Amino acid sequence: MKDLEIVDVQSFSTSVPVANSYVAYQIYFRLGVPITLTIGKLGSRDFPAGDYVYTGSARRNIRARVLRHLERVKSLHWHIDYLLSSPVVSISRIILSTSSECKLNNSTEGRVIVPRFGSTDCKEQCGSHLKYIDENSRTKRQSGTEVHPIRKA
Ligand SMILES: [Zn+2]
Repeated sequence: MKDLEIVDVQSFSTSVPVANSYVAYQIYFRLGVPITLTIGKLGSRDFPAGDYVYTGSARRNIRARVLRHLERVKSLHWHIDYLLSSPVVSISRIILSTSSECKLNNSTEGRVIVPRFGSTDCKEQCGSHLKYIDENSRTKRQSGTEVHPIRKA
């Protein structure tokens, strides 16, 4: 049993088995062009083009939750739904983890650009569960290992 698993989007959509000890997930995606979205109580927000990582959790049936995120057309329930239903978003990979979502989020490189995004019920002052991966963290990632810098639980 691994602490962390990186799954490409294709195999996740088909038949990869998901261990039920995974409680948190990350969705890495790229925004092709800058967009402005009106997101519930967050209001109107600007999202620059570039790479993002969203961290979420599902205590039960994490596979179904992630598959829902991969659907382009759906009801807009969570903050992330507004972004991922955009036609200019392409999801690159999924990470599954046995760490709590906040621990996973805090150990991930990236910059908060929309405070409180996806972290309405966050208990660890993450600031946001959406991070923007700027040039600085991208450079680190390329010079390091293939895997993102996520510490073990
Ligand atoms: Zn948090």
